[in-house]
Amino acid sequence: MAVDSILSSPLGPPACEKDAKALQFIEEMTRNADSVQENVLAQILRRNADTEYLKSFNLDGVTDRESFKSKIPMVTYEDLQPFIQRIADGDRSPILSSHPVSEFLTSSGTSAGERKLMPTIKEELDRRQLLYSLLMPVMNLYVNGLDKGKGLYFLFIKSETKTPGGLLARPVLTSYYKSDHFKSRPHDPYNVYTSPNEAILCPDSFQSMYTQMLCGLYDRHQVLRVGAIFASGLLRAIRFLQLNWRQLADDIRAGSLNPKVTDPDIITCMTRILRPDPELADFIASECSKEKWEGIITRIWPNTKYLDVIVTGAMAQYIPTLDYYSGGLPKACTMYASSECYFGLNLNPMCKPSEVSYTIMPNMAYFEFLPHDSEAGAAAPPQLVDLADVEVGKEYELVITTYAGLYRYHVGDILRVTGFHNAAPQFQFVRRKNVLLSIDSDKTDEAELQAAVESSSRLLKGFDTSVVEYTSYADTSTIPGHYVVYWELLAREPTAGPTAEVMGRCCLEMEESLNSVYRQCRVADGSIGALEIRVVRNGTFEELMDYAISRGASINQYKVPRCVSFTPITELLDSRVVSTHFSPSLPHWAPDRRRC
Ligand code: AMP
Repeated sequence: MAVDSILSSPLGPPACEKDAKALQFIEEMTRNADSVQENVLAQILRRNADTEYLKSFNLDGVTDRESFKSKIPMVTYEDLQPFIQRIADGDRSPILSSHPVSEFLTSSGTSAGERKLMPTIKEELDRRQLLYSLLMPVMNLYVNGLDKGKGLYFLFIKSETKTPGGLLARPVLTSYYKSDHFKSRPHDPYNVYTSPNEAILCPDSFQSMYTQMLCGLYDRHQVLRVGAIFASGLLRAIRFLQLNWRQLADDIRAGSLNPKVTDPDIITCMTRILRPDPELADFIASECSKEKWEGIITRIWPNTKYLDVIVTGAMAQYIPTLDYYSGGLPKACTMYASSECYFGLNLNPMCKPSEVSYTIMPNMAYFEFLPHDSEAGAAAPPQLVDLADVEVGKEYELVITTYAGLYRYHVGDILRVTGFHNAAPQFQFVRRKNVLLSIDSDKTDEAELQAAVESSSRLLKGFDTSVVEYTSYADTSTIPGHYVVYWELLAREPTAGPTAEVMGRCCLEMEESLNSVYRQCRVADGSIGALEIRVVRNGTFEELMDYAISRGASINQYKVPRCVSFTPITELLDSRVVSTHFSPSLPHWAPDRRRC
C-alpha cells in the first residue's frame, strides 16, 4: 500500500519514512483488531498459565476466549488487593504475572483513601513507548513543519516510595520520565522539547517549573506547540508565569539563575542555556505587566500552532480558560491512558474537544466492554462484549486484561462508541464512574465527600449546630481551582452558632478527610486551592428541590445532588450564601503515609 493512502488526512502523505512505518502499524492493528485481540489474550494466558491467580480458576492452560470468559471473574481493585499486598510485601512467587513485577504504578484512583498500586512488568515500558511513538506521525498528518521548531511541555515527576518488599511505587509518568526510554531517547526533529531533562527530572516542583518556564521563554520564537499532560497543568504554568515573571525577566536580563534554583544538575545544564538578553526581558516584562492576560500564550509564543493537553473528561471544565489565554488555539487531545495500561490514541487530534474519540490499540491489552445502560441492570447480568463487537452509539465500561497480571479488571471509565477506524472502534470518553469532584488528578467520590462532611461537622456539635444538607461544586474560575461545599446549617440557638474560626477548621477537617491524591495536589503540587465552605441560608435546599421539580423531577424520587455544575443552580445557591470560609492551612500529606 502506498504510504499516502494510509490515513485520510487533509495534509496528505506521512512526513517521513519513520512516520510511514508508524501509520502502517496503526493500519495493521486496526484492520485486524479482532485477531490481534485473540492473539493478545492467548499470549497473556499462555505465559501466565502457572500463576497462582490463573491456576486458582482452573484455566488449565487453555487460552481461548470462551474458556477465559466462563472461568475468570470480573474484578475490581479491592478483589485483587490481597494479592497486590503480598507482592508489595516482597513475595516474589508468580502470583499475578509470570514475569517479575518490576515496580508499582500509583494510580490517581484511590482505594481506602490511598493511591491504588498497579503492578507492572519491565516490557510494559516498551508497550507504552510504542504508543508514544505513534502520536507524532499522526499529528504530522494534520500539522505541517513541526520539525522546524520545539515543543514547550511542562512535564513533572512526583515523589516515589518503596514498598516493604523493596519495590518502587510511583506514578506511571514518573516511571516513564526516569526510564532510559525517555532520558536517552534518540534525537527526533519532530519531538524536540524546550525543557531539558534535568528540569523535568527535578523532584522540586518550583525549581522544575521555573527552569522549564525560563527555557520556554528563551526559545519563544521556536516554540510550535505548548502542552502539559492535563489542561489543569498548563493553566498552572500560566499562573506560575503570572506570579514569577518579574524574577524570570530579571534572570533573562542578567543571564543569571534565580538563587531558589539549587538543583546541581539544573545549574550545570543551565550554564549552557543562560545568556543575557535585555530585549527579551523587556518584552516579557511589558507583556506580563499588562492587566489583561487574554491571549498571553500566543503573545509570548507567537508561533504556537496548537495546545497539546487533555481536555476530555473532567478536564473539559478548563476549555474556556484555555481559550482565553490562547486566543482559541486548537487543543489536541492525543492519547488515552492509565496506570493500569495505555489504551489508545486520537487519530484526528486537531478535531474539536467535543468530537474527540480515542481509537483503542488492540495490541496494548485484551479489552472487554460491559454495556452500561440502566435498563440492562435490572435483567440478567450483562454480557461483556469484545473490542470488535461494540456498537456505535452505545456506552460501555472498560474492562481490561493486561500482560502485567490484571485479569478482567474494571478500569472505572465509561466510554461511548462513536465509530470505527477500520475494524477498531473509536470511543468518546464519557466520564469516570463515581467521580463527583475533580480539579487536577484528584477524584473524589460521593462516599468520600459524605465522610468528609460527617467528620468535619463533628466540630459543630459544641455549638448545637448540624449540617442539614450539603452539595458541592468544583470551582475552576480561579487557578488553581478548589472545592466549594455548600452547607445549610441548623443551629438550635442561632445566636450561639459556630464562629468563623470554627468554620475555617471545618474546611480543613474536610480536607484532612479527603483522599491522599487530593492532599498531595494541595500540599506537594499546589494544584488545588484551599477548600471553601459556603453557608447558605435556611430553606435554600428546599428551593433547590422546587427548582428541580419545576423542571420535571419527580417529587418522590428527588435526591439532593451532591455535586452541582448547572449554572442556574450554582447561581441560586450563591445568591443565598450568608458566609464563606476557607481552610486556614494545608492538610497533612506525606508520600510515606501509604500502608506499605
Ligand atoms: P491514572 O491511573 O492516575 O493514570 O488515571 C487514569 C485515568 O485518567 C483514566 O482511567 C481516565 O479516567 C483518565 N484519563 C486518562 N486519559 C484521559 C483522556 N484522554 N481523557 C479523559 N480522561 C482520561
